[in-house]
Amino acid sequence: MAEIIDGKAIAAKMREGIKKEVTELAAQGVTPGLAVVLVGEDPASRVYVSMKEKACADCGVFSAEYKLSADTSEEKLLELIAQLNADSRIDGILVQLPLPKHIDEGRVLEAISPAKDVDGFHPYNVGRLVTGNPLFQPCTPYGVMKMLEETNVDLKGKNVVVVGRSNIVGKPVALMCLAAHATVTICHSRTVDLPAKVAAADVVIAAVGIPEMIKGEWIKEGAVVIDVGVNRVGGKKLVGDVEFEAACQKASAITPVPGGVGPMTITMLIYNTLESAKRRAKG
Ligand code: NDP
Repeated sequence: MAEIIDGKAIAAKMREGIKKEVTELAAQGVTPGLAVVLVGEDPASRVYVSMKEKACADCGVFSAEYKLSADTSEEKLLELIAQLNADSRIDGILVQLPLPKHIDEGRVLEAISPAKDVDGFHPYNVGRLVTGNPLFQPCTPYGVMKMLEETNVDLKGKNVVVVGRSNIVGKPVALMCLAAHATVTICHSRTVDLPAKVAAADVVIAAVGIPEMIKGEWIKEGAVVIDVGVNRVGGKKLVGDVEFEAACQKASAITPVPGGVGPMTITMLIYNTLESAKRRAKG
């Protein structure tokens, strides 16, 4: 049976470390600050924003919330971002996605100062990740890497198969594994013979968004499985992209859903905000 990689416990341990560093920084007169911008009333976005604010409060990070109505113009939003870029109390700016359709998401993300881009979505930060000199790394993939590190998985020379090629999970996690000297294969909806690709993997990272589409029988004996997928089935139950029970019979270690990658994402956001504040403290 596979070892269960406990994301909640790893996140809690990291948050303790963050709290300690925040206290040390406060003694130097610097309190990390995160601005959270929400446009519109999307219920899921509201939940995410309140979770982020609560995590800030728990870690002693100052958070400033900007709730704008759904009909806010792109110009007004860009004005707010310019103001936050110049605000010395703010180390990180997070614009909750998705934005209403009349706003150009790319333009907004590019308006955030790369030095405050704690989500790591600005093309400058994407470029730094690609060139192997990251400043801010996107939170979910960064959380995956921390989990692998905490589980003592050395990626050097390993075959990693990433299923999914989104800009927020698949592509950045593949780049991070490459930087850790893995041999990386990225699979997507046009990949031919996905079962064979997965069967060759020492580490499988699933970020698809289809409930249990990766079958337990595809997993190589002893492989490590990281399931990023969060899918609601039957109205309530959450399941991942991997057939969990069957995969447990083959894998050496696996993340559950819920309680795996999920708790790491917000923790890495706070971590990135702390790192930014530390750079401010250094001047
Ligand atoms: P996207 O929808 O942006 O990307 C999904 C990817 O899966 C695409 O690259 C797509 O390929 C690929 N795909 C779709 N169908 C197949 C298939 N049959 N075989 C192989 N690949 C396929 O999703 P995200 O990356 O944003 O999210 C992925 C999952 O992770 C979701 O369940 C999401 O909820 C979850 N998630 C969890 C987070 C957390 O904090 N735990 C944070 C972010 C996401 P193609 O490019 O060809 O279309």
